[in-house]
Amino acid sequence: MRQITHWIDGKPWEERAASKGPVYDPATGEQTAEVAFADPSVVDEAVAAATRAAEAWRDTSLAVRGRVLFAFRDLVDRNKKEIGALITSEHGKVLSDAVGSVTRGLEVIEFACGVPQLLKGEFSENVSSDVDSYSIRQPLGVCAGITPFNFPAMVPMWMYPIAIACGNTFILKPSEKDPSASVFCARLFTEAGLPDGVLNVVHGDKVTVDAILEHPGIAAVSFVGSTPVAKHIYETGTGAGKRVQALGGAKNHMVVLPDADLDLAADSAVSAAYGSAGERCMAIAVLVTVGDVADRLLPKIRERIVRLKVGPGAAPASEMGPLVTRDHHARVMGYVEKGVAEGAELVEDGRKTKVPGHEKGFFLGPCLFDRVTPEMAIYRDEIFGPVLSVVRAPSYDQALTLVNGNRYANGVAIFTNDGGAARRFQNEVQVGMVGINVPIPVPMAYYSFGGWKSSLFGDSHVHGREGIHFYTRGKVVTSRWPDPQHRGVNLGFPQMK
Ligand code: NAD
Repeated sequence: MRQITHWIDGKPWEERAASKGPVYDPATGEQTAEVAFADPSVVDEAVAAATRAAEAWRDTSLAVRGRVLFAFRDLVDRNKKEIGALITSEHGKVLSDAVGSVTRGLEVIEFACGVPQLLKGEFSENVSSDVDSYSIRQPLGVCAGITPFNFPAMVPMWMYPIAIACGNTFILKPSEKDPSASVFCARLFTEAGLPDGVLNVVHGDKVTVDAILEHPGIAAVSFVGSTPVAKHIYETGTGAGKRVQALGGAKNHMVVLPDADLDLAADSAVSAAYGSAGERCMAIAVLVTVGDVADRLLPKIRERIVRLKVGPGAAPASEMGPLVTRDHHARVMGYVEKGVAEGAELVEDGRKTKVPGHEKGFFLGPCLFDRVTPEMAIYRDEIFGPVLSVVRAPSYDQALTLVNGNRYANGVAIFTNDGGAARRFQNEVQVGMVGINVPIPVPMAYYSFGGWKSSLFGDSHVHGREGIHFYTRGKVVTSRWPDPQHRGVNLGFPQMK
């Protein structure tokens, strides 16, 4: 059985693991690997390696840091098909989607390559006679990242390239469900010239995460995952004196106004609801049809759903792969049953989808519920599977009230041909990322990514300017050079003249 080890101090950590977890191929349902779980003593080793590397890395010039990042960028680009294949083998998503997600991660590395520009401070000459003031941003020290299963390469890349570019060292705890891509990328970073100990990867579950949260040697924690865990991470991490950003779950709505281009809306809804089998934090989970839209839009959506090819992620013809694990599959199936029991109308039942030769795989075809109401569990809870719920809203105002009443606020989209309506929506909607005729409005790396309300604990979104700020501390220096005159003691509050 393939063994997946930690990556500490620039090499695999081969020592016997006290415990291990299984890794499955979701397309076959078979276990393909075992991953070592880090107990607190392994976390100590990773923190020790990161601490040893921290001083020299922080003092490494921006020119050299930039060069290592450029080399890493090239290696990730050259290896993106291999990284994609690793993702598909453990996550299940189709290969083109897996490679596409690596490309989005690559954009964050490219952003981090601009670190000399991004870390520029401000300078004011002569704030008083012979006195200058300037601001600088300095690294925090050892930072950690804890990431979810759904983007095994991209979400970690939201964190460590920026943290490292800013002069920090890093410990990544990827999802134990699909851990291989992270170790592969850490190896590439070492090959790119990153000194040993600057990036470390430890695997595990709650025990490992809690050891990270409590470790006094770690200054900051970035988390992406479900809302209950995000809340736990934020409360425990800040309680232990760390800087924490914790991005949580989502329930993203797509509002379609009566004047929208309904073919565009149908293509977008199907792509955004069923891409990656709905296991995206920016997936559309709720379609809010305004006025008479539902009766015109739903036939177009059904027509597209029945043509979707569900199959193993590695097969070139597949458009939608399996769910990540047997447990998650059972959980999503449970929601489909609950939706039926609660009285929603199941107009497409993905439970009937069969993938010949892959009877033990974790497959579920696209499910479409109509006439869903806000009290139903399928509306309230994040399902994180290929289940789209249609809520019929009589008016724009009712659609807006629905969206703003939801406890999640990660992404939202509006489809309309009325610029004024779109502009009003963008202003009134209480959600972190807004798409106008764009179903999955994931910001580019030079903007920041993150939601509001229960989709984010902490003040900082990831990457972009907020990412640079999260991984650095500001300092302001006031200097007097030269000061040949001594004006004597003055016990008053310093005044700038
Ligand atoms: P998860 O919360 O179960 O796990 C995330 C990470 O936390 C993993 O590394 C896991 O090992 C660890 N973990 C799990 N339970 C823990 C516990 N009790 N204590 C401490 N650590 C724990 O999430 P997941 O199932 O891997 O990923 C899916 C979730 O992630 C969805 O809710 C999705 O919306 C969310 N997500 C959010 C974003 C975003 O940007 N807001 C992006 C991607 C995924």
